[in-house]
Amino acid sequence: MAKTESEITWRDLEIGLVVTEPGNAKCYKTGDWKSLKPILDRERCVHCGLCYIFCPDMAYSPDQDGFFIADLYYCKGCGICAQECPTKAITMVPEEEE
Ligand code: SF4
Ligand code: SF4
Repeated sequence: MAKTESEITWRDLEIGLVVTEPGNAKCYKTGDWKSLKPILDRERCVHCGLCYIFCPDMAYSPDQDGFFIADLYYCKGCGICAQECPTKAITMVPEEEE
């Protein structure tokens, strides 16, 4: 069972940078690396799901209305979703802006 973020403390990387616990990225707040964040224009979204498919961090999930929403706790701000969105419904803005 994966540990929760609060249970993980500082430790040295394994020799050779071997990841001994595959899938452990969900235990870390990787979203605090970003300087940009994706903002969705719901008027332009056609619910195609390409943002979900292309996001390398699997940060997107659909909400109850069928819009794909990025979880900013994990989003690293790479902008791939904005690049791949066919209707340009996603805009990357500085982290402090809405
Ligand atoms: S890729 Fe763009 S149009 Fe498609 S679901 Fe995501 S935001 Fe909507
Ligand atoms: S900016 Fe990058 S990490 Fe964040 S939701 Fe878009 S594709 Fe995923």
